[in-house]
Amino acid sequence: MATDSWALAASKFKDKAAQSLLNKMIHTSLVNTTNQVEVLQRDPNSPLYSVKTFEELRLKDKLLKGVYDMGFNRPSKIQENALPMMLAEPPQNLIAQSQSGTGKTAAFVLAMLSHVDPTNKWAQCLCIAPTYELALQTGKVIEQMGKFYPEVKLAYAIRGNKLDRGAKLQEQIVIGTPGTVLDWCSKLKIINPKKISVFVLDEADVMIATQGHQDQSIRIQRMLPKECQMLLFSATFEDSVWKFAERVVPDPNIIKLKREEETLDTIKQYYVLCSDKEEKFTALCNIYGAITIAQAMIFCHTRRTAGWLAAELTKEGHVVALLSGEMTVEQRAAIIERFREGKEKVLVTTNVCSRGIDVEQVSVVINFDLPMDKYGNADNETYLHRIGRTGRFGKRGLAVNMIDSKHSMNILNQIEEHFNKKINKLDTDDLDEIE
Ligand code: ADP
Repeated sequence: MATDSWALAASKFKDKAAQSLLNKMIHTSLVNTTNQVEVLQRDPNSPLYSVKTFEELRLKDKLLKGVYDMGFNRPSKIQENALPMMLAEPPQNLIAQSQSGTGKTAAFVLAMLSHVDPTNKWAQCLCIAPTYELALQTGKVIEQMGKFYPEVKLAYAIRGNKLDRGAKLQEQIVIGTPGTVLDWCSKLKIINPKKISVFVLDEADVMIATQGHQDQSIRIQRMLPKECQMLLFSATFEDSVWKFAERVVPDPNIIKLKREEETLDTIKQYYVLCSDKEEKFTALCNIYGAITIAQAMIFCHTRRTAGWLAAELTKEGHVVALLSGEMTVEQRAAIIERFREGKEKVLVTTNVCSRGIDVEQVSVVINFDLPMDKYGNADNETYLHRIGRTGRFGKRGLAVNMIDSKHSMNILNQIEEHFNKKINKLDTDDLDEIE
């Protein structure tokens, strides 16, 4: 691969991994969904079990206690079907896809903890994640859920965790990144892959963003015994993820949970005509009073514009928070948390940063720059995701698009046409309309 495309792939991977981590950090409770789970059984003749309570799963008391201690009252939508499948005897393989925050991690952590035999002092469950940080995040869930089951020990197979060649791991659950796990299984022989009975591949969509991870994952999988239970999880399901999943998980059961459909039906959409960036800023200041009655998000195309806009608004005496790609994931998570709690009213951000954030509570969205793809065409999907509402929330919202060129007007027209919804002109000197 040419250096450039390699660098591009690496940065894409980093973005995806950071986004996943951010999602994990900000989802402190389940994402609600009214969509039905779609289940495809490997053996369509076997009965389909689903559970409505954790008791029905006949978990060890220590585990049930751990589950309740985490504040879980009943299984999430995806857990209702996934848990009985994962805990079935003989073990069943599973590919599961649902958006972040729907309970996948909790499900496979519970499955791993249930399958372990703590009297055996060797690695029995192996979980791989795309990055060190994501592995740690899952590790925390294992520790939390296994709080009342201290006999079960956890090891991290991550870079920097050096063990001697031939040292035998005593811990029953191993979580790590593909490179180190592969080393531990092959070169260093710290783990005997033949003794692994549960293999989990988490965040498959992030994993496949680098060829290296994909290859390593497949090499690890090939070392495992045939009867080992293989589980794969992904937040999204493009073709590439699907192809990879089929290579890693033989004879799978499949569980899918669709995202809620978003609509523009309850959104009032406007555009404001300006001649340049400065005029857009002035127009924004004019409507500022009206928009800050509620919580607002302002989207810019680049980090630079976002930084500039946040600084200018601050100079004008407005209180705004900036969510930018330069920030660490922890910093970003902290800002999102403050915004969610209502401590911040206005958030200036770029698209990359906000992807995956559920903005139901936001009732005003300003597109300081309209979303476009790399060819300069309207990015309809992003537009919908920025301002759309899921039917269930159905709250009314307001979207204002700032136009400063023929090109942006053109994008606006494309968006109007795509959604077949008129976007009206807003006169920022006369705001009666939006109030
Ligand atoms: P995913 O892996 O799909 O992103 P998680 O398993 O991390 O989802 O769950 C998202 C959030 O919901 C976490 O904070 C988790 O503790 C919580 N959660 C998971 N399962 C349940 C449940 N059955 N009841 C209540 N909360 C849950």
